[in-house]
Amino acid sequence: MPMYDYRAKDPDHACPACREGFEMMRRLDEPPLTACPECGAPIVKIISAPALGRSKSKLDDRAKSAGFHKLKRVDKGAFEKLY
Ligand SMILES: [Zn+2]
Repeated sequence: MPMYDYRAKDPDHACPACREGFEMMRRLDEPPLTACPECGAPIVKIISAPALGRSKSKLDDRAKSAGFHKLKRVDKGAFEKLY
């Protein structure tokens, strides 16, 4: 079952749970949550992006260890392989 991150649309009118954001397990056939189960405030689904906010070198390391190669665009239609 996929985990979804939800957070209150308006943190000023939210309970502690949805103000900070919370994870919710949802079945695929269930409609996405639109309101906090605790306080009923409108919530939005957050796309989890753990790589965001980390340093660029760390992201490179992760990509490298995952077997990706980083390509730098050096010319129109040409790419230089950085590693
Ligand atoms: Zn709430």
